[in-house]
Amino acid sequence: MSMDITFLGTGSAYPSPTRGASALVLRREGECWLFDCGEGTQTQFMKSHLRAGRITKIFITHLHGDHFFGLPGLLCTISLQSSPDSDKPPLDIYGPLGLRDFIWRSMELSHSQLLFPYTVHELVPTRDQCPAEEFKEFSYVGRDEIPPEGAQGRILHLDPVEDSYLLLEDEQLVLKAFCLFHRIPSFGFVVQEKPRTGKLNVQKLKDLGVQPGPLYGKLKSGSAVVLENGLTISPSDVLEDPIPGRKICILGDCSGVVGDAAMKLCYEADVLIHEATLDDTQEEKARERGHSTPKMASEFAKWCKVKKLVLTHFSQRYKPAAQRGEEDADITELKRQAEAVLDGQEVTLAEDFMTIEIPMKKLKL
Ligand SMILES: [Zn+2]
Ligand SMILES: [Zn+2]
Repeated sequence: MSMDITFLGTGSAYPSPTRGASALVLRREGECWLFDCGEGTQTQFMKSHLRAGRITKIFITHLHGDHFFGLPGLLCTISLQSSPDSDKPPLDIYGPLGLRDFIWRSMELSHSQLLFPYTVHELVPTRDQCPAEEFKEFSYVGRDEIPPEGAQGRILHLDPVEDSYLLLEDEQLVLKAFCLFHRIPSFGFVVQEKPRTGKLNVQKLKDLGVQPGPLYGKLKSGSAVVLENGLTISPSDVLEDPIPGRKICILGDCSGVVGDAAMKLCYEADVLIHEATLDDTQEEKARERGHSTPKMASEFAKWCKVKKLVLTHFSQRYKPAAQRGEEDADITELKRQAEAVLDGQEVTLAEDFMTIEIPMKKLKL
């Protein structure tokens, strides 16, 4: 089952000709999940090999404009390109409290009617996610006016035991959010595939006298079978060890994490996508603005023993290496700074339209 990540915007603060505002797509089984939707994300889609019409879920890390100002326009364009279909499942949008009101009002004020249903599931932030003076209560949101149908969704509170938010879980994966510290409450998301059932050991099956056919399927799905000779065979007798799932962590803007959950959730991630807005020489300025430097990102990656660190959300002064003029700041310096902390482990600097494949895991020996 293929899985890949494509960056549509890797710049901070605003979209520029060399770096779009924050957006990336996680593609799995043909479904596209969009993480952040900065201004211009819809044109970035058009320039890429991806189709916005394939988006089934959207996740917004925080409510700074460079992460969600592209949302109303993108939704309207998807609607223009789609045909009414009453059986269509709603587009699920996840993000901080206040997002539902923003989307609903944008649609109302612009007299936009989407041809597909959507739901907005809001994460309720905690007060320790930003400086006290920046925290907004938002308790008024949705109190006086009930948004009309199509704008409903769940309100998700932090699970105090797990120290995380459970967004969705099915047979194949679980998706959780955790708290980050930024100028305003920001979130990280972790997509964890569940282990896949191991392969059937055909030789063993043959030796036990199990004929290929429906019994194979039964054993693979976890049920014991009884043969004609009365012998009972349990799945564990003939299945090889389960294949571990992949783990992808996508963090919003932050100068650090809140609580212990983030490190546990990101532990041994296959890919960690972390912001590095400014280089290490500007750490004080970065922290003041709630941002990270390559060193800060790498330290977190090191604690979590992640297999691949990808840096993104660069200040617009850092042009992609191939487009750098003589006067421009050198982005490769950020790579060097990050790799120094990780004892030489390779760090990837994201660029717009870069795609990273995440291969299936092999069985642990
Ligand atoms: Zn940002
Ligand atoms: Zn921000």
